[in-house]
Amino acid sequence: MDADVLVVGAGPTGLMLANQLVRRGVRTLIVDRHDGPATQTRALGVQARTLEIYQHLGIVERAIELGRKATGVNLWASGRRAGRVPFGDAGLGLSPYPYLLILGQDDNERLLGDALRKQGLAVQWNTELVGLSQEPDRAVARVKQPDGSVREVTVGWIAGCDGARSAVRELNGIAFRGAAYEHVFFVADTQMTGPMVKDEVNVYLWPEGFHLFFPMRGADHWRLVGILPPELRGREDVSLDDVIPSIREEAGSGLAFQGCSWFSTYRIHHRRAERFRRGRSFVLGDAAHIHSPVGAQGMNTGLQDAYNLGWKLALVVSGRAEEGLLDTYEEERVPVAQRLLRTTDQAFAFVVSDSRLVGVVRTRILPKLLAFVMAWKSIQRLAFRTISQIGIRYRESSLAVTLPGVPAEAPRAGDRFPWLRLKRSPDGAVEDLYERLDDRCFTLLVVGQPAPPGEPPGAGDLLRVEVVSSDPANDRELARAGIPRPSFYLVRPDGYVALCGTRLDGGSLSEYFSERLRLGAARRGEGESRA
Ligand SMILES: Cc1cc2nc3c(=O)[nH]c(=O)nc-3n(C[C@H](O)[C@H](O)[C@H](O)COP(=O)(O)OP(=O)(O)OC[C@H]3O[C@@H](n4cnc5c(N)ncnc54)[C@H](O)[C@@H]3O)c2cc1C
Repeated sequence: MDADVLVVGAGPTGLMLANQLVRRGVRTLIVDRHDGPATQTRALGVQARTLEIYQHLGIVERAIELGRKATGVNLWASGRRAGRVPFGDAGLGLSPYPYLLILGQDDNERLLGDALRKQGLAVQWNTELVGLSQEPDRAVARVKQPDGSVREVTVGWIAGCDGARSAVRELNGIAFRGAAYEHVFFVADTQMTGPMVKDEVNVYLWPEGFHLFFPMRGADHWRLVGILPPELRGREDVSLDDVIPSIREEAGSGLAFQGCSWFSTYRIHHRRAERFRRGRSFVLGDAAHIHSPVGAQGMNTGLQDAYNLGWKLALVVSGRAEEGLLDTYEEERVPVAQRLLRTTDQAFAFVVSDSRLVGVVRTRILPKLLAFVMAWKSIQRLAFRTISQIGIRYRESSLAVTLPGVPAEAPRAGDRFPWLRLKRSPDGAVEDLYERLDDRCFTLLVVGQPAPPGEPPGAGDLLRVEVVSSDPANDRELARAGIPRPSFYLVRPDGYVALCGTRLDGGSLSEYFSERLRLGAARRGEGESRA
């Protein structure tokens, strides 16, 4: 075998997956048909859940340094500022990163690429997947090399992180169902001044659509996103100059454009791969789902796909778990993609609807209504949970087991384990639990009862045990998250609750590891690699 896993595509999804595999000791190759990293900003919003993963990768400080926190969204209609939705620290207490970070896709890719290089793996650029075949125990990829020759690469698994036109998806005959919207978007990175509120997102709503202005790094640097006026739709040679009149018409004549470093138009599709795995191939990111950019979910969803699959592949490749574990990638991530397509489709239909009535709602009622309801803390938090992706959960997954006795309001199996700040010992300092979790292992959190004697059976060095010490500050924090005493939570490497219950007994743990995770069935490499 040339490698355990071939990652096809070095966009954000492929770079994240390669990082997750390499740091778990998996022999990985990553190829991309482009001649180097992308220089276009494309996606802009980095969600809290992504920053939580960046923390484990050691790149979160740099991301925050390079990006800008989105503090608020200003809604404009008929040339006037009609409302402001405070965005600031809407998720305070819910995540160490309670905000949306504005950081271009190119910066994200650079950080992920640097992290990968530090671990000793470089992307093979100018290298394109052109064919593949699968055997029961291996896959053979045909890749076109920079000199034009085609080489065969034998690997255990192929991860298609190769974007909307995925070769991995097509070579596997996986249908990509959905359709294109009739609207064409434009994006422009501009140098401009105008009435926009500085350092905040500005949304201009108008009867036929909208324009978004995102503040970017650097003085007077704005990313503009909008819909092409219908009369420009069929044209190939559209430039910023062509859309400026319509922007001025809606956003006011006070805009002054000094420059434009990137202008692009693109047609949006809403499509989903009918399955995310076929044999030894997987599809992730845009290869698996594409949708409108409403809500800044696209890049983040691909990164979460990779985080979900990474630890599972590592366990299977090292021989510690059976291949069946890999079916849970599709089982858990297809419903996320389905929900995402549904909600972004509804939101998109509303923001682009040509109906006169919807136009009136969008320009007259929506700004005031949003500003009013978003002033409520509880609604702000609900919106944060949804948009930041911390609310994504896998309660229906075959990997989620909630034992009887766990109260209804407590976190349950399949939920992201809540962010807590706990004292390790009664006289110790309060520490961020997420910083203590090693995302290459399972963590057993034991509350209000002693740890099981000896090594808990079934997982060997894959399991770390943390006993939450009894302390009034810890009790308050646990109560805030609805965690009962006594209880125990087995947290997966990707931060989701695998198993939870009240009284801890070794039997339910070992049963979970052998029956659900199917650990130990194929123990070839025990001790060689971590999850
Ligand atoms: C103009 C534009 C603006 C956008 N704006 C936003 C936004 O504001 N917010 C948002 O959330 N999303 C936005 N998106 C979408 C966002 O960019 C994607 O969701 C994100 O890039 C998906 O990442 P990915 O790694 O899955 O795929 P990609 O970034 O598409 O990466 C796929 C990689 O695979 C490589 N590849 C393809 N085929 C092969 C092959 N056969 N062999 C080897 N390599 C191959 C490609 O070269 C590419 O580098 C925008 C997209 C576009 C085009």
